[in-house]
Amino acid sequence: METMTFEKLINKVKEYNECEIEYITKAYNFASKHHEGQVRKSGEPYISHPLAVAYILASMKADRDTLCAGLLHDVVEDTDVTLDDLRFEFNDNIAKLVDGVTKMSKINFNSKQEMEDANTRKLLTSITKDARIIIIKLADRLHNMRTLEFKSKNKQIENSIETLEIFIPLANHIGAYNIKRELEDLVFYYLNQETYKRLKEEVNDFQKKAENSTDEMIYTLTKELYNHEINSRIEKEMRSIYSIYKDLQEFNKLEDIHNLLSLKICVDEIKDCYYSLGLVHFKYIPLANRFKDYICQPKTNMYQSLHTTVFGNDGYLVQTKIRTNDMDRIATYGLTGYWDVLKGKAGSEMQKDLNNKFQFYKTLQDINDLVENNEEFVEVVKNEVLNKNIYIYTTTGLIIELPYGSTPLDFAYKIGLEYGKNACAFMVDGELVPLNYKLKNNQIVKIIEGPKKIDETIDINQIATTKAKTYVKKLTNTNEN
Ligand code: MN
Repeated sequence: METMTFEKLINKVKEYNECEIEYITKAYNFASKHHEGQVRKSGEPYISHPLAVAYILASMKADRDTLCAGLLHDVVEDTDVTLDDLRFEFNDNIAKLVDGVTKMSKINFNSKQEMEDANTRKLLTSITKDARIIIIKLADRLHNMRTLEFKSKNKQIENSIETLEIFIPLANHIGAYNIKRELEDLVFYYLNQETYKRLKEEVNDFQKKAENSTDEMIYTLTKELYNHEINSRIEKEMRSIYSIYKDLQEFNKLEDIHNLLSLKICVDEIKDCYYSLGLVHFKYIPLANRFKDYICQPKTNMYQSLHTTVFGNDGYLVQTKIRTNDMDRIATYGLTGYWDVLKGKAGSEMQKDLNNKFQFYKTLQDINDLVENNEEFVEVVKNEVLNKNIYIYTTTGLIIELPYGSTPLDFAYKIGLEYGKNACAFMVDGELVPLNYKLKNNQIVKIIEGPKKIDETIDINQIATTKAKTYVKKLTNTNEN
């Protein structure tokens, strides 16, 4: 891999933020001076790592303080620089960000597991203080995964599993699809090299075979949109080999996967999205049941786009994703797509969006409030936030994100305490269901209010979420007293 240089970083930053170069140069010089003489396992000077992390952050259009914290993220842990030094040389914000990143790897405990649990908790809850900490940590992990070849086999597997269990789901929750895709393939490569290589080759062959047809389709659609005075940019979108691998557990052949070939159409305005959709469907026959409107109903990680799979040229199925350029920015960078860099309030604006729009954030806060023990906390977050989720509709069409295996009671408590407390029965897709009913993706749940008969009907072990469990337990206890 090419060594990152300061010049490359600066050129990247200049693409969106000309005016902070001086300050960033100061941070670079400071980090460079203090890491002087340190070498990475790859033989490169240590500073190449913070530089690469800052570069990843610059690709996400990070604000000044985040970039500086990226450059300085290892100085407190690996050199004799203190947080006070950073506060004095730079500012309190940068010191706090570096502190947040450092804290995750610096505590001493009796057992390794205990330490890891405490670190993981710190990592996960840091998002409630300042989401930029987790974003720096994601960039740090991405670069460490890119350079994992220099580590021992054991370390490779250990880091890959941790990335799979924690960092990839996090990237997914904040909607950072480009980071997610890259991490998925790195993890897959280190955990199952043979399968990764074989499948990558098969996918490449398939895409090569279809190349003429997809190119022709891009040409046709570009012309068609142009003729209707719609400004557009059409690109092929690549999926991670890992996500294709997961799809193959469900479908047998590559050819059966409906979105192996994928085009994205980016336009200026929302109304252009729907107009373009019409044009796509006029030109190419849509596959039934494969249309999704994530514009009116964004995913819980704020992803927005229209999806439709059509029969393209030569019979190839092609998934077409239509979105505005703004939506595309958020689909690429996730939460950081909201960074309001030039107005200098990137951090607070993003934190506000996180709070208002991203559902996992509230879940994480709830769990943090309810669970004291670190080991239990990590376990619960892995199960309820980072594991497979299902998406359930309220009767007014809101989407509620729940862990796999949730019951209607979990749903009610997730919406709000009052709903959980007052619910006595539930209709799912129009039918009354028992309280231990396991919800399935996309079902609609109606809550019926009334006095609950706790003892007879609720088995606490069948409830999936900690929040519902905790409050049902409380109710049961009051009943007994
Ligand atoms: Mn690092």
